[in-house]
Amino acid sequence: MDNCLFCKIINGDIPSDKLYEDDDVFAFRDISPQAPIHFLIIPKKHLRGPAAVGADDEKLIGKMLRIGADLARQEGVGDAFRVVFNNGAGAGQSVFHIHMHILGGRSMNWPPG
Ligand code: AMP
Repeated sequence: MDNCLFCKIINGDIPSDKLYEDDDVFAFRDISPQAPIHFLIIPKKHLRGPAAVGADDEKLIGKMLRIGADLARQEGVGDAFRVVFNNGAGAGQSVFHIHMHILGGRSMNWPPG
């Protein structure tokens, strides 16, 4: 997608603090971290958000979760992390390329506000 911020990060047109990349997914630190550890996993395939996930994408979304958990461990938060997907502007989505937030490194209240 020409005008997508996260597609530009994947292509290297916009720099990022990359944690991981393979043929399917890309992971990088959030530029405005909401926890000591806060990074994003995105698929290289442009999908607008969680509601745009189709049956063909189910394996890809599972892979994002597996890579995210591996990276959380690598970042030292063990099994204490939160996974967030925002869908739609009304729920706080600001970048319309699906992304999985991983947050950890502090105690996080549940339910969130
Ligand atoms: P959301 O609000 O769920 O759409 O999340 C978008 C996230 O992308 C926010 O947490 C932003 O801080 C993050 N973000 C925006 N631009 C960049 C960037 N250039 N590099 C890293 N993270 C970014």
